[in-house]
Amino acid sequence: MQDTATVDCPFCGQGMELVLDTNIASQRFVTDCEVCCRPFEVTAECENGDVLSVSAAGS
Ligand SMILES: [Zn+2]
Repeated sequence: MQDTATVDCPFCGQGMELVLDTNIASQRFVTDCEVCCRPFEVTAECENGDVLSVSAAGS
């Protein structure tokens, strides 16, 4: 199952919508900001098909 969540780029503050696989309880991946093109790390916690929390951190 997939769900979307919004995170803000830690560099430029741009909000971005991400598609998450909610079957994965805890996931971490790197994505590139669409605006400033800098990579940042996204950490997401999911449970029973819901997104519990999403955070973004610059590396
Ligand atoms: Zn950015």
